[in-house]
Amino acid sequence: MLIGIDDTDSPQGMCTTYLGAVLARRLIREHMQVKEARLVRLNPNVTWKTRGNAAIALHAEGNADRAFEIACATVEELADFSCGNTNPGLVVTGEQPDPAFYRRAVKDFCEIDDAIRVLDDSGARYRGWKNGRGLIGATAAVASDLPDRTSEILVYRKPERWGTPRNVDCQSLFDAERATFPHTWDTVDVINDVVVCVPHTPDPVLFGIRGESPAWVMHARQMIRSEPPGIEQIWVTNQGTDAHLLPGKAGHLHELLSYTVPGNVTSVPGTHAGGHVSFIMKDGDFPVRCMAYEPTKNFRHIVRQLLPGDEVIAVGSFKKGSINLEKIKVVSLGEAETVRPPLCTVCKKRMTSDGKGKGWKCKKCGARAAEPEVREISRVLAPGWYEVPPTARRHLARPLCRGLSE
Ligand code: ATP
Repeated sequence: MLIGIDDTDSPQGMCTTYLGAVLARRLIREHMQVKEARLVRLNPNVTWKTRGNAAIALHAEGNADRAFEIACATVEELADFSCGNTNPGLVVTGEQPDPAFYRRAVKDFCEIDDAIRVLDDSGARYRGWKNGRGLIGATAAVASDLPDRTSEILVYRKPERWGTPRNVDCQSLFDAERATFPHTWDTVDVINDVVVCVPHTPDPVLFGIRGESPAWVMHARQMIRSEPPGIEQIWVTNQGTDAHLLPGKAGHLHELLSYTVPGNVTSVPGTHAGGHVSFIMKDGDFPVRCMAYEPTKNFRHIVRQLLPGDEVIAVGSFKKGSINLEKIKVVSLGEAETVRPPLCTVCKKRMTSDGKGKGWKCKKCGARAAEPEVREISRVLAPGWYEVPPTARRHLARPLCRGLSE
């Protein structure tokens, strides 16, 4: 059977993955077998999410009625019902629902009624609490197919420590990254000297290590020194797979969906208040703004080097009319040159225009020139892929260290 759960946490605490890890242990205690624990991230632009729009699914063997009972009791015991925005959903099904529902939930938006239709079609047991919105994520989790998958080990805190400052040895995190990158990623951000894998929210997670396989995340995890941990769970995930991306075309993008969009840069990138960088690119007649926000740190230095005529592929979510860049491919550099009035060969002063199509004239000696000074700009930027740093990476974004997705 597949057991899906979502929407059990609040900004004040809890985490659906923790609830799933506790449930797995309770099922095992009842002599059920848990064959896989799965963590899926869904459309990152869903505004009613608490944090990273995660949902979980357990693949288990045993009595489905009993599993449903235990799962209901676990949700009722652990979900943060006090929060107005917490609307848990639970699904237990012997038959996997159509994976098309998962693909829509990760790339687009779904309604609760759509989830209920899919669940009824596959004869699932299900229960929604409060407005039942969690049924969307719970259904997507059990419907998920992961052609590309990664691992994450989540180490949880002992309940008596929840809400207190976390104690994880920083140096051991940097050492683990050095020893296991690129097979693990986003434990720390080396360039910005920031720890990424330890949350700051009051939830039960102590730290999480992401990587390409259970063996690699476990290898890194064993290097980390911390406060005495509680339970630990290795999850199979769609994190770092770009599962949220749709092929897109400028002029045909929908708000709050995420795309890969080709285009030609048509404006010199500008830096705005707050350090956000933007430029316009066009595909045919359709312009679209691309944004590299301040938290993307050094990625903005790359974006600032773009010039009109550069051919790019922009990757990110389309929000308020802009693509919020997660990464960018510089396909080719345009011919960049500066055109200025020529220097007078006699006075060495810059000439002034003598009117449109009339050439240039030296104000001092009256000498004339027909052609402007054209200089090729030498470019430091090289064609290739560039990405935001680990501190700014979205859960679903595929890091370049995993190889190129084309
Ligand atoms: P949690 O740890 O509780 O899962 P979270 O940050 O993952 O926290 P949720 O609290 O689960 O966010 O809130 C997300 C809500 O949005 C859930 O009710 C989920 O069912 C719903 N949801 C997820 N994806 C979609 C989608 N594509 N369309 C509509 N609703 C969605």
